[in-house]
Amino acid sequence: MLPEIEQYFRLEKLPHMWCPGCGNGIILHCLVKAIDKLCLDQNRTTMVSGIGCAARASGYLDFDTLHTTHGRALAFATGVKFAKPELNVFVLTGDGDCTAIGGNHFIHAARRNINLTTIVFNNSIYGMTGGQYSPMTPSTSRATTSPYGNLERPFNLAQLAIAAGATFVARTTTYHTKQLTDLIIEGYKNNGFSLIEVVTHCPTSFGRQNKMGSPADMLKWQRDHGVSAIRYEKLSPEERADKFITGILHKAEAPEYTAEYQKLLEKLRGR
Ligand code: SF4
Ligand code: MG
Repeated sequence: MLPEIEQYFRLEKLPHMWCPGCGNGIILHCLVKAIDKLCLDQNRTTMVSGIGCAARASGYLDFDTLHTTHGRALAFATGVKFAKPELNVFVLTGDGDCTAIGGNHFIHAARRNINLTTIVFNNSIYGMTGGQYSPMTPSTSRATTSPYGNLERPFNLAQLAIAAGATFVARTTTYHTKQLTDLIIEGYKNNGFSLIEVVTHCPTSFGRQNKMGSPADMLKWQRDHGVSAIRYEKLSPEERADKFITGILHKAEAPEYTAEYQKLLEKLRGR
């Protein structure tokens, strides 16, 4: 491990439990690099996660951490931020955790515009719990619960977040590591609810069932399918069919929930 990031890990908890070639470690590396660049105080920074492979990330990180219940990372994080608005709060969650079990918490955290930086590890499957399809598994993909191909249509999580009221929405992949670090920094700087969706690879569950090849092949797939908005605009409808846009997708100004609450308290105290 690079000496400059070692301080952010609980070394006694390593080695991690993730499969060889899993994308989760790449996201963690980019996260601590972003935190290092932002010079955040480790003792005033909290990581909150739910359940699943991605959620194990909080246990490896040397911050105040909460490894919570399935789908409830945003609910716990809302409580932390509400009680101590001065803390930097990051939420680490998977596609199943965040958009199925936690779907309701997700839309309301976005709607409230509470100042949380949420990183969704989107590997298109429930990795830890048996390879079932999630609300973000692409149509026709195979999972243990869709052995003949997924009949459901996936969420476009970015569009959902925008519609619900999030003020920073971005998407990238584990191939685009510099962009991922930069987006985490930008998401943190946003004074409101920030979503960074990271298309990542699960070679064990999703990759094997969908014959995606090696972890390196899955990274190449990300490289070839994640495109900037400018490039996307130039593609024909046929070429767009299997591509997704990366980069900042949405930025807006709106009142931040905990700040509004503090204002209300001050007003009531003044009476
Ligand atoms: Fe990573 Fe998939 Fe293994 Fe979970 S099951 S650790 S997401 S490769
Ligand atoms: Mg998943």
